[in-house]
Amino acid sequence: MNHLILNRGLTLLTPFLSLDFLKKWTGRSFIAPFYHTVSDDDLRHLKHLYPIKKVDAFKKELDFFQKHFEPIGLFDLLKYIEQHNALPENKFFLSFDDGFRECEEIVMPILLKRGIPACFFINPPFIDNKDLMYRCKQSLVFDKILESDEKARFKNHFSYLDSDETVLDRFGISFEAYLKKQKPYMSSVQLQNLVENGFDLGAHSQQHLPYYALSLKEQIAETLESLKAVQQFQPKAYTFSFPFTDDKVDNSFFEAIKKSDLKITFACAGLKDDSIVNHIQRYAMEFDKGKYLSTYDEMKAVWLAYKMKKLLNKSKVYH
Ligand SMILES: [Zn+2]
Repeated sequence: MNHLILNRGLTLLTPFLSLDFLKKWTGRSFIAPFYHTVSDDDLRHLKHLYPIKKVDAFKKELDFFQKHFEPIGLFDLLKYIEQHNALPENKFFLSFDDGFRECEEIVMPILLKRGIPACFFINPPFIDNKDLMYRCKQSLVFDKILESDEKARFKNHFSYLDSDETVLDRFGISFEAYLKKQKPYMSSVQLQNLVENGFDLGAHSQQHLPYYALSLKEQIAETLESLKAVQQFQPKAYTFSFPFTDDKVDNSFFEAIKKSDLKITFACAGLKDDSIVNHIQRYAMEFDKGKYLSTYDEMKAVWLAYKMKKLLNKSKVYH
């Protein structure tokens, strides 16, 4: 069911339930919210992929998480899981995917001021704006087309646009020029600055391809090559988050990476448990939740949905 409709529906059921009650009732009080970027700018390489989180909205969401949970950093999260074989209580773990430059320029100062730790998952080939991820190319091309008088002809062709040179020529698009001018990604210096300020870096694959479309061998190569490149910035980096989804990634992947430096991994199926204890499902914060829904109401609906899934034996992801 559509995320938004489910949340709106469940919100009708939650006015008399407090989040504290829902946490106790479900036996779960840990959440791992994740973002990509935070910006008040109209970022053309992202605006057609998901709603871009505005600075003020981000701060309000942090207010919510700090009021109802305590922040936990990667090291303490891993230590807790290793000791207890379970997720910690009343904690939130914050992370950001894809390595966009606003992470260092906008997010880092906000988190430092509040004393919130976080992990940033990076695709090494895009560091220093050497290339643009294919979904970002699609967003940029689509945005150019919407400006043109050919908009009607292309409007249903969002996903095949990126590599078609005739389309790029026709609309005068140069990814190189956009990368140079806009600088969507963090530079090496910015990554170093995150590490020097106590934040963690993690790998997020090389090319940001959906893992269900790769062979096991390719999945492992994408993962370990990106980890190795991230370790140039943080030598002891030991984490990875899946690009898009861990859907259809089976246990043989997790068995294979046990021999590597990876100690903890992340995906984004929402508030769910996982059959692998050091593999954590995160909750995506960037979606159109409608104007009326506060983070408090949203989270109550998310917790109630978790309870319902648990009753139906659907609250756990198996690999
Ligand atoms: Zn990503």
